[in-house]
Amino acid sequence: MAAKVSAFIGIGANLGDARVQVEQALAALARLPQSRLTAQSRLFRTAPVDAGGDDFINAVARIETELPAPALLEQLQALELAAGRERPFRNAPRTLDLDLLLYGDQVIDTPALTVPHPRLAQRAFALIPLLQIDPFISIPGHGAAHQFVPRVADQAITKL
Ligand code: AMP
Repeated sequence: MAAKVSAFIGIGANLGDARVQVEQALAALARLPQSRLTAQSRLFRTAPVDAGGDDFINAVARIETELPAPALLEQLQALELAAGRERPFRNAPRTLDLDLLLYGDQVIDTPALTVPHPRLAQRAFALIPLLQIDPFISIPGHGAAHQFVPRVADQAITKL
């Protein structure tokens, strides 16, 4: 049996009923193969960063998984597709965006996958829900995640 890894997934939506999209994504993550949903943050409303359209609804989920990171990313992309994500242009509004934020304490740098997610420490919509699940979590290569909170203090984020 493969080793279990604790992975954190960022969820975002700003098209259609974004709240329903995020709740359905959490339910879909709970059904991933060889994985178990072990924690979820509250839902948050955030202003778009480098993207157009309405406010986003965001959350972070923690799963325990035996899926290798590339297989997990494929599963996340399949869920995005199933949610009807279209990409008419870069950073277009999206039905559902799933990011692999952390995969255990691993550092991964391949053309398809960068972990820790490169913008995790700069985006309140990922950092704040992550810290709600685990206030003491570290970002491999960067240290304690909470030290980055003051740097995202200018980004609007409210708990739903
Ligand atoms: P996005 O438009 O933000 O959903 O970016 C999707 C692209 O980012 C895909 O081509 C992925 O292969 C790539 N990518 C690289 N690292 C990650 C990551 N940690 N989580 C999700 N997508 C990633």
